[in-house]
Amino acid sequence: QKAIGVLTSGGDAPGMNSAIRAVVRAALHKNMRVIGIRRGYSGLLAHDMFEMNLRSVSDTLHRGGTMLYSARCPEFRDDKGVERGKEACLQAGIDGLVVIGGDGSFRGARDLSLKGIPCIGLPGTIDNDIASSDYTIGFDTAVNTVMDMVDKLRDTSQSHDRCSIVEVMGRRCGDIALHAGIACGAVSILVPEVPFSIDAIVEKMQRTLRTGKKHFIVIVAEGVTSSDGVGTVHDIAEEIEARTGVESRATVLGHVQRGGAPTARERVLASEMGYHAVELLEKGIGNRVVVCHENKIVDYEILEALSMKKEFNRHLYDIADAISI
Ligand code: ADP
Repeated sequence: QKAIGVLTSGGDAPGMNSAIRAVVRAALHKNMRVIGIRRGYSGLLAHDMFEMNLRSVSDTLHRGGTMLYSARCPEFRDDKGVERGKEACLQAGIDGLVVIGGDGSFRGARDLSLKGIPCIGLPGTIDNDIASSDYTIGFDTAVNTVMDMVDKLRDTSQSHDRCSIVEVMGRRCGDIALHAGIACGAVSILVPEVPFSIDAIVEKMQRTLRTGKKHFIVIVAEGVTSSDGVGTVHDIAEEIEARTGVESRATVLGHVQRGGAPTARERVLASEMGYHAVELLEKGIGNRVVVCHENKIVDYEILEALSMKKEFNRHLYDIADAISI
């Protein structure tokens, strides 16, 4: 009887549990055994694993985080670590592995595949920074979480005629900021992919002040504050207040964005991807990532997927700018 392993690696994301559940149920349905590996590649090297059955994943579909825990494993970056990973798979009778994580995790999955253990990567990260997939598992939930929080900030900004400057996650990717910015009616959205100036934001605010707008939301992607030389969101708030006269407050949303129950869309995406991964392993196919491309679930060779360049949706960004006047 064939056995497949499943692990989550790198940053956690809502929907990872839905993906694990789909992998476990699909494999058992296809009469394969499933081994759950805790804490990513670290758990593989430490033989921290357990046999999963139909009920191992009961009551997990709707929970954020990952029931298998996640970790980073520096040893796996070199060949000795990957060799030990292969030995661990052989010892546990694992014939194939599903790795849920980001690009780093996929590199490990490729290395292990080349050593003869077929691995399938599933894109799991809130940041949506995986070029090969239109959407990653975790992104939709994170955008909805940001939207809920910014709606709450809007209530108080409106009551006090204030400007709220909100920093959201995304590493070097502006997708969370862009989508949340549109969903929340932000006057400006600052992302690492598009050059911007504080002058332009101030000018736009002054223009809208003249037409009667009194409260504002500015969404800032963390990739902007971490490396674009504009300082923190607190610095941006101070400058906006000094130049527009509108009282401004900065909020850093932080790790709440990584938590919460996955949205319906997330659960569906994760379930489809998990099932597809098992279908590939059933055929003995490895060294692939399962992605969403133009609303279809497809798979690419890992290296090909890693070489793709993420395209920022400039059209959506321009729409956001045009309708926030
Ligand atoms: P993510 O998967 O979210 O991009 P990381 O980049 O931290 O997160 O990678 C997660 C884990 O994947 C690392 O801790 C390491 O075990 C493994 N990994 C990362 N990069 C490589 C690499 N170049 N080769 C092999 N394994 C890697």
